Amino acid sequence: MSAVSGIPITNTSDFVEVQNISVPLEAAPVFPGDPKYSRASISRLEDGAEYNLSSIYLGTHSGTHIDAPAHLLRGGRTIDQYPLSRFILPVQVVSVNCPGNGDPIDLSALQDLKSGEGEALLFKTNNSRRRLMHNSVFTEEFVYLSREAAARCASLDFGLVGVDYLSVDRYGDDLAPAHRALLENEILILEGIDLEAVSPGRYHLICLPLNAADLDAVPVRAVLVR
Ligand SMILES: [Zn+2]
Repeated sequence: MSAVSGIPITNTSDFVEVQNISVPLEAAPVFPGDPKYSRASISRLEDGAEYNLSSIYLGTHSGTHIDAPAHLLRGGRTIDQYPLSRFILPVQVVSVNCPGNGDPIDLSALQDLKSGEGEALLFKTNNSRRRLMHNSVFTEEFVYLSREAAARCASLDFGLVGVDYLSVDRYGDDLAPAHRALLENEILILEGIDLEAVSPGRYHLICLPLNAADLDAVPVRAVLVR
């Protein structure tokens, strides 16, 4: 028997519900300037070869992915420098209703939250309701996290913060204040999740990274279980 933060797990059927919150890589939007995901066949059964074999090409920030401090901070930690327990966490999903599609999540979204104690916090916003992560055309106007709200996530001691579009910061804000407020405090950032079908509440989040050294970020398959 193993345990995730005190919840005993004997086998996977202990989870009543497993909900995918990652988006298909081939249909996901791409942040301007980032590489686009592609797959190429190297060997094909239908061409008479003895096996199928493909290569894939993608950016470290393709689709649903996690940012590590090394993304923005010199000397910041890379993905492989975190224990796997940082990617398997109790999580709160909170719903935020911003009036405009390009508004920030502000401090009011956090007013009812108690100490995060290293847990994860995911924001469900208009972005999920607009299905932005399923639209391959990049959208400049999306709900993002204000610097103040990001700083509050840090002072509340959350271990991971997730948003439902490709950046926690407003598009065009090169100072990236929300990224910095989180990454400077060793809070991992889960970007590009789809929470449209997810009800607010408590779950466990599993979003394990690929096993590769020195990555500033990494695409993940993220699921909520309970
Ligand atoms: Zn990123």
